[in-house]
Order: sequence, then structure tokens, then C-alpha cells
Amino acid sequence: MPGSGCSAIGGFNRNHAVLGTSEHCIATHPSDMAIAMRVLDAQVETVAGDGRRRVIPIAEFHRLPGETPHVDTNLRHGEFITAVTLPPPPPGRQVYRKVRDRASYAFALVSVAAIVDAADGVLRSARLAFGGLAHKPWRVEGAEDALRDAPVGNDSAGAAADAVLQGAQGRGHNDFKIPLVRRVLAGVLAEAAGQR
Ligand SMILES: Cc1cc2nc3c(=O)[nH]c(=O)nc-3n(C[C@H](O)[C@H](O)[C@H](O)COP(=O)(O)OP(=O)(O)OC[C@H]3O[C@@H](n4cnc5c(N)ncnc54)[C@H](O)[C@@H]3O)c2cc1C
Repeated sequence: MPGSGCSAIGGFNRNHAVLGTSEHCIATHPSDMAIAMRVLDAQVETVAGDGRRRVIPIAEFHRLPGETPHVDTNLRHGEFITAVTLPPPPPGRQVYRKVRDRASYAFALVSVAAIVDAADGVLRSARLAFGGLAHKPWRVEGAEDALRDAPVGNDSAGAAADAVLQGAQGRGHNDFKIPLVRRVLAGVLAEAAGQR
């Protein structure tokens, strides 16, 4: 209900966001598929009531809560999604790893969608999108820059995690997500680079 406040701030918040929050809302984005679509740079095609069509890059589709946490997307009133297009993926191995409390039917505590191009222990390029951290799929250009032409290992993974976690704020029960991002990212990069 808009304006009713956020009982997770100061309440039970194990599943809640550590990035991009506002004083009105610390909910996380619930979908796994959208995290993968974000790393693949999907395009959302829409048609409005008057027949006008537009294409919304997935990066601009979801919103952070700000002062209007009940508005999740930048869809306009009456606008209808007709298709989602995935452009050809960049080279590299695609991995999705999800950490959750139960084996099924559980939202991500932390998830990572990655496309990693690596050879001989060196990362040529990597794209990363995170779930479970914010109100929208979380992708940080600086994290991907930190991995370009870097050796696979804890140092490069740590530098990327630093960029992802810039401004992260735990609220008590969800503090564990911050170190968990570091471990999950290091594992995903090693797996995608063929080292695990
Ligand atoms: C307990 C539980 C656990 C879950 N765990 C997970 C999980 O781990 N991973 C995961 O990926 N999902 C999970 N889900 C499902 C996920 O939360 C929802 O599928 C997702 O958030 C979509 O929400 P919805 O079902 O309310 O969407 P919908 O009811 O389909 O739609 C939401 C809104 O979109 C509008 N809408 C629908 N179609 C269109 C269209 N074509 N164009 C424009 N607007 C449209 C509707 O009018 C509505 O306002 C879980 C759900 C539950 C209940």
C-alpha cells in the first residue's frame, strides 16, 4: 500500500536489499529471469493504448524505490509488453548461480548472472548482474572494467566486488549479504573461467 512505510527497516530483513534502497523501501527485485535478461542486455518492446510502440533497454526498465516504491518499472500507464528481445550474446561462458535458504521455491539471497570470456587464466571480458541485492537487477560498469584483462583470482574478484558493493548498507539480518557477494562472485568467475 503506497505510503504505508517499510516494516523491514528496523524489522526482519534477511532477504532485503543492501543497495539502491530508500527510506521508504528496502525490498529486493524477486525475479531470477530478469537478472539474466539484464546481463544479456535484453530489450523490452511495448505498445501503448494509442498504438505507439517503443523499445526499452532492460537497464532502463526497472526502477529503484526512491519516494515511489510502489512503482517498480518505467512502463507508462496503459503500456503493454509485447516482446522481449535478446541480442546475440557476447563471447564467453554463461553462468547463473543463486544462493537461497531452501532448495526450491525460495528467492535469491544473492544471485549472479555472468558472461565471462577467459583463456589461460586471464579474463578478457566479463558481464555481471546481481539479484537479491537491490530493488532492480544490479549491474555496475566499474565491476566489469575491473575484470577486463585481469588474471582470474581473488584479487580481481575482490576489486570487482568492491565496485559492486559501493554504498552497500546492511540493516542487521541482511548484513551477511555483503561478504556473501564477494564469495559468490569469486566462485562464479573461477567456474566460468574453467578453474572449478
Ligand atoms: C513464494 C514465492 C517465491 C518465489 N520465488 C521466486 C524465485 O525464486 N525466482 C523467481 O524468478 N520468481 C519467484 N517467484 C515469482 C516471482 O516473484 C513473480 O513471478 C514475479 O515477481 C512476477 O510477479 P507476478 O507473478 O506478480 O507478475 P504478474 O502478475 O504476471 O504481473 C505483475 C504486473 O505486471 C502486469 N503485467 C502482466 N503482463 C503484462 C504485460 N504483458 N505488459 C505490461 N504489464 C503486464 C500485471 O498487470 C501486473 O500489474 C516467487 C513467487 C512466490 C509467491
